[in-house]
Amino acid sequence: MAQKSTIEWTQATWNPWHGCTKVSPGCKHCYMYRDKKRYGQNPKIVTRSKTTFHDPLKWDGARLIFTCSWSDWFIEEADPWRNEAWDVIKRTPNHTYQILTKRPERILENLPADWGNGWNNVWLGTSIENQEYVFRMKLLTTVPAWTRFISAEPLIGPIDFGDLTGVHWIITGGESGPRARPMDLEWAKSIRDQCAKSGVLYFHKQNGGTAKIDGAWGGRRIDGQTWDAIPQPA
Ligand code: SF4
Repeated sequence: MAQKSTIEWTQATWNPWHGCTKVSPGCKHCYMYRDKKRYGQNPKIVTRSKTTFHDPLKWDGARLIFTCSWSDWFIEEADPWRNEAWDVIKRTPNHTYQILTKRPERILENLPADWGNGWNNVWLGTSIENQEYVFRMKLLTTVPAWTRFISAEPLIGPIDFGDLTGVHWIITGGESGPRARPMDLEWAKSIRDQCAKSGVLYFHKQNGGTAKIDGAWGGRRIDGQTWDAIPQPA
């Protein structure tokens, strides 16, 4: 059985390694830190998984798989294991992998040798939480990839992306949890409108906060409707 995800824009999660170090304000309330501490583990120690490393090889069907929900695919500590993980992806063309990183400056030097213009079952994405981190988009768009995406979650400030050429999909979401930083709905609306103007697919995950409305933290409607666009797997 695949590890079913509760994340609205994916179907399963895969963590070949876990543990991470914080790199920017979006990491402040990282749920992996919270969960690892609860289990008495040090969240900063990056560990290869003894049990889940080859999981996608066992999963039937075609799944959208969010990789490294408990780490970062491109974190330096995982350099010795990443080629083996790329091999798992290569051997499972039936699945589509969503690789989201806060370290886009490390992507180019850590792609597989036969990456070419990008494998068609890999979507590469970067997280951008406010205007200060738009430079990550510039780094991402220099990388050849089948699909490129941006996760603006937790959205903690307004963002003007400027030129969205090379970006296929943007996700927005407010922070959730007891110390959630509020998201102004106008920030999400602005990103929605920037996507519409540039022909970029737009998905709004949640408004954020401490209470669920219709199954999502803070609800997920903007202007009376949900925004659920998602790229088609190859
Ligand atoms: S990069 Fe992701 S996993 Fe790593 S600390 Fe930041 S939010 Fe957590």
